[in-house]
Amino acid sequence: MSLTIGILKESNDKRVSITPDNLKRSKLKEATWWIESGAGNEAGFTDALYDGLASSKDRATILKEADIIVSIFPPSESDMGQIKSGALLISQFRPYINESVNGQLAKYGFRALSMDMIPRTTLAQAMDVLSSMASIAGYKAVLTAALKLPRYFPMMITSAGSIRPAKVLIIGAGVAGLQAIATSRKLGAVVEVFDVRAAAKEEVQSLGAKFVEVEGAKDDKGAGGYAVQQSEEFLQRQRAEVQARAAKSDVIICTAQIRGRKAPVLIEADTISKMKHGSVIVDLAASTGGNCALTENDKIITQNGVTIIGNSSLECDMPEDASQMYGNNILNLLVHITKDGALDLNMEDEIVSGSLIKA
Ligand code: NAD
Repeated sequence: MSLTIGILKESNDKRVSITPDNLKRSKLKEATWWIESGAGNEAGFTDALYDGLASSKDRATILKEADIIVSIFPPSESDMGQIKSGALLISQFRPYINESVNGQLAKYGFRALSMDMIPRTTLAQAMDVLSSMASIAGYKAVLTAALKLPRYFPMMITSAGSIRPAKVLIIGAGVAGLQAIATSRKLGAVVEVFDVRAAAKEEVQSLGAKFVEVEGAKDDKGAGGYAVQQSEEFLQRQRAEVQARAAKSDVIICTAQIRGRKAPVLIEADTISKMKHGSVIVDLAASTGGNCALTENDKIITQNGVTIIGNSSLECDMPEDASQMYGNNILNLLVHITKDGALDLNMEDEIVSGSLIKA
């Protein structure tokens, strides 16, 4: 008997976890797909587009009967009460910040793979939703800033005079930061970048941006490519360097984060008072506190003529491609954990053991 995989409708997000196009290209030929009615509507994928690829079902049927349930945000606790025992849930559980999730899963005895815990290895790259979504967020952050900025990004030489290119400062050169650099450069801005990992320097320079070095950054090769917590003394020096550059910038894109910790505050309130009127900060680290001291999560505020946009989920504003990428990542994981049409969860496998939530 083939696996039945149910795609849930998100309650607070325009994205859907699997698109019709994902299913058309799927290598998972033996599976039976069910989709909650209307799940793809807001991303532009109507139920009719799933015809012949997935059967439209109500939520209760999917919860009660599917063998695998996929979503972007985890099912609610009341959903969990209805899911059939032994089902596998695949979603972004974020157990490192969502403390109640382990208890909920343990209570109902479900197995769960958390897409945000997929290890960042070459093999797992095709399943890495954090990278897919961060890349969109970095791109959107620059476009959001460009729309808000009262001036051009590119240099313009016109009969009405010349206009200098915008100066963009990017803090953090991980996946979102690198995409923000590439997008800013394509729009013609001059870009300066801060990061604490030595490996970031070459990547930044290869995109045509200037890497600003602050001496004494702690860089741990054993941290799996992630940044580590910096000393307060280093951060103070870095804040001073950021301030000197922020005063001359038109746009700042903040992406600096330390996994599992509060984001480092690198733009102090005093720095905002020195920035140019009309300049824009987009803080993608807002959900973990923000890189700017004044950032408010999910809010746009103006201080001293500077607009500060606190938004860590800009990928949700591009639901079509975000769904497409998320769906490809999930399908690649599903192919990896199935064999001859059946579930084959190998606990020795680093992708499975890395993403499995041990209830
Ligand atoms: P992230 O979202 O965790 O953090 C963003 C960036 O903030 C990082 O580059 C980090 O170094 C930087 N940062 C932290 N503290 C800072 C500070 N005080 N000042 C300036 N910058 C600061 O990053 P990410 O996008 O998840 O990427 C993290 C690493 O993982 C990168 O090396 C990336 O290349 C790597 N990665 C590998 C894979 C893979 O191999 N499959 C996939 C994705 C990412």
